[in-house]
Amino acid sequence: MADRTAIASTGPVIVWFRNDLRIADNPALAAAAGSGRPVIAVYVLDEESAGLRPLGAASRWWLAGSLRALASSLGERAISLTLRRGTARKVITDLAAQTRAAAVHWNRRYDRAGEAIDSEVVADLAARGIAAETFQASLLFEPQAVRSRSGAPFSVFTPFLRHVLALGEPRTPIAPPGRLAGPADLASEQVEDWRLEPAAPDWAEKFHSEWTRGEAAARNTLASFADNALLYYAEQRDRLDLAGTSRLSPHLRFGEISPFQVWHAAKQACESASGSAARASADKFIAELIWREFCHHLLAQHPDLATRNVQARFDGFPWRTDEAVPGALKAWRRGQTGYPIVDAGMRQLWATGWMHNRARMVAASFLIKHLLIDWREGERWFWDTLVDADLANNPASWQWVAGSGADAAPYFRIFNPILQGQKFDPAGDYVRRWVPELAGLSAEAIHAPFEARSDVLNAAGVELGTTYPSPIVDHKAARARALAAFARIKDETR
Ligand SMILES: Cc1cc2nc3c(=O)[nH]c(=O)nc-3n(C[C@H](O)[C@H](O)[C@H](O)COP(=O)(O)OP(=O)(O)OC[C@H]3O[C@@H](n4cnc5c(N)ncnc54)[C@H](O)[C@@H]3O)c2cc1C
Repeated sequence: MADRTAIASTGPVIVWFRNDLRIADNPALAAAAGSGRPVIAVYVLDEESAGLRPLGAASRWWLAGSLRALASSLGERAISLTLRRGTARKVITDLAAQTRAAAVHWNRRYDRAGEAIDSEVVADLAARGIAAETFQASLLFEPQAVRSRSGAPFSVFTPFLRHVLALGEPRTPIAPPGRLAGPADLASEQVEDWRLEPAAPDWAEKFHSEWTRGEAAARNTLASFADNALLYYAEQRDRLDLAGTSRLSPHLRFGEISPFQVWHAAKQACESASGSAARASADKFIAELIWREFCHHLLAQHPDLATRNVQARFDGFPWRTDEAVPGALKAWRRGQTGYPIVDAGMRQLWATGWMHNRARMVAASFLIKHLLIDWREGERWFWDTLVDADLANNPASWQWVAGSGADAAPYFRIFNPILQGQKFDPAGDYVRRWVPELAGLSAEAIHAPFEARSDVLNAAGVELGTTYPSPIVDHKAARARALAAFARIKDETR
């Protein structure tokens, strides 16, 4: 639904790209193209406005490729992508004034700091007689539009899911525009000027073989997922050793594909497949997409989701602060905890900028519960290292694992990293891939090398404490310590 403060003139329409780096199903762009006016496409790297969370390193890497891809698609339609750096408010209002724009279009964002900037831009433009027109694009259900029968926002996932599914089908995706016209002489910075990608050392080297950034790659990823893995999603999504999930998260994060495109592709694939298993898979996948919506719904209610416990009783949680914490945190970040499934996940993250959801849950639980390290430390590390680091999904998921969130895993549910490995990586292939020093161990031994006989370890060339670390905490003792810590905050609230 478009929201407009319109005052017409004959100038061009500026399309301000933000988290929507695509040309298909982009309502802000489609409306600009449909206006018949010249179109100016702009992206602003805003590292100065108050309250905006600076992008992490892996996200900066992704952004660079995504902008290049967008510039190329716009170039095929005969307009360029203008890149500017500075406070968005100043850049956009200056550009609008300089080009005598009739209107500025953008797709809405839902974080409090971003919305505050957007309101200021609307006011500045209105003062100059320039229209601002905003659109719904990155969420299927906008946070302010979803309310329970009592008029309150939701804080529990299942009623939220039930409610939004009853709202009816989201709109169908909008086709990309054809040829566009725009001014050719606008000054632009270059992506390279922004140094978004690492040079020396190039820690993102492996990212290149793992990912193709941009809208075309997002579309291919969706098509191949819909043709293959989607039908088995319900069964395979938790398996660490299989390619059972879509890997669309960074594409969705940067808006190279829209949730509307993903929703309809999933529904279509399900309709053309027969059998209840396919339908169950499509439903499960759509429910995960709705988790993304729910996280944004939570962020809209709790703008400081990344820094403050949703449940205030967690403010008194006895996180460890002793002198061993920095060492434990370092071991966790580097995948050297001595628990193979945790280490495999953390190394996958470091090498590729992405981690399987099951490994994220296990690794996060290990940091919070086994190491008793404040969840915010983990959230910050993920923020910096994930290519899909998301303002809503990341803190909401961390608070979910910690138990401090709105709708959270119960604190007493403490993942056993050995059992999780055995269940979701039954042959040990995920561990073999990411922790190659354990590759010689059998499926029986690989998830708990510290319990294996010495002849088994010798035969596989594993020497604990030398070729692979001994566990940095004992599972049973860590579990008991976590439960005692939880009992303390429970007692305090009585
Ligand atoms: C500690 C922790 C941190 C996380 N941080 C992020 C993050 O920064 N960015 C992010 O996109 N996801 C995050 N997730 C959620 C989830 O792990 C990823 O979305 C998922 O692994 C991405 O892989 P996929 O695209 O193959 O997912 P699929 O299973 O194919 O799901 C499709 C899409 O649905 C959305 N989705 C799936 N699961 C979730 C979920 N649990 N919560 C919210 N959205 C979901 C994603 O957009 C995903 O791309 C986090 C989870 C945990 C436990």
